Amino acid sequence: MATTARGVFQDLLDGHKRYLRGPLIHPHTTRDAMLGLAIAQSPEVCILACADSRVSPEIIFDLGLGALFVVRVAGNFADEDNQASLEYAVQHFSPPPALIVVLGHERCGAIQAAAITFDPCSVAPEKVAEFGHHPAPSARLVSLVTRLQPAILASQPSDRAFVTSLYWRYAGQAPDEALPSHCERLAADGVSRGQLEDEFRQGGVAEVNDSEFVTSLYWRYLGCGPDKKLDGYLDKVARKHLENEFRAHRLDNAVCENVKLTVAELQANEVVRASGTFVVGARYDLDDGLVTWLTPTPE
Ligand SMILES: [Zn+2]
Repeated sequence: MATTARGVFQDLLDGHKRYLRGPLIHPHTTRDAMLGLAIAQSPEVCILACADSRVSPEIIFDLGLGALFVVRVAGNFADEDNQASLEYAVQHFSPPPALIVVLGHERCGAIQAAAITFDPCSVAPEKVAEFGHHPAPSARLVSLVTRLQPAILASQPSDRAFVTSLYWRYAGQAPDEALPSHCERLAADGVSRGQLEDEFRQGGVAEVNDSEFVTSLYWRYLGCGPDKKLDGYLDKVARKHLENEFRAHRLDNAVCENVKLTVAELQANEVVRASGTFVVGARYDLDDGLVTWLTPTPE
């Protein structure tokens, strides 16, 4: 049995490969395996996963009894209790688990609930309406969702990302090197959407739509007025379409940001640090079953 972080990580990769491509071996799932673990356990990996029924760690890594110490909570975040469970694992088992995996997943309902609460613009209107049909969330659920707020805030796409995307479509090719760096500079200069809106207001325009906003940024980028083609293009492309795409990205960004923030919290946890346990973050894709690693993996 592997005991280094790299070794147990490889075991996870191998099991996940079996899950994706077969053949599955369902190790350690027999009665003998159960009896062999009756007195003691020594899991090599801890997993902090969402409670979602489609993301079962033992299944997606093709592992059995005794392999994984799993903490599951909707939204896979590391509050006091979840961290305490992981601290128990790294202090109590000998040797301590070599790896902690924070496992988020695509279209996470908890993340979606947090997005609807803290950034409704990031969620498709029909999803917000659907959520509204649910009973009012309990106080505990509100508390859980609040715990995910930092991930929602961290995931908001920058205006830079928006304008870069539009530019990409407009030009029909990937934006040149200059555009992102130019937008970086605008951001560094504090040219935010809010400031642009102020400028528009001072110019007598009460409400700034995205088309005007992008046109304005484009104007700054080129240093001259946008051509007619851009205006026509922006009208044609329909912001709705782009906004929907961005919403999809925003939710997924939030899933990934939540994983990264949680990994950082666990890496800063003194007990985890003292144990030498490696912490890594991942995202599970509901469409193809693929686990993607979001933070550096053990070498
Ligand atoms: Zn979830």
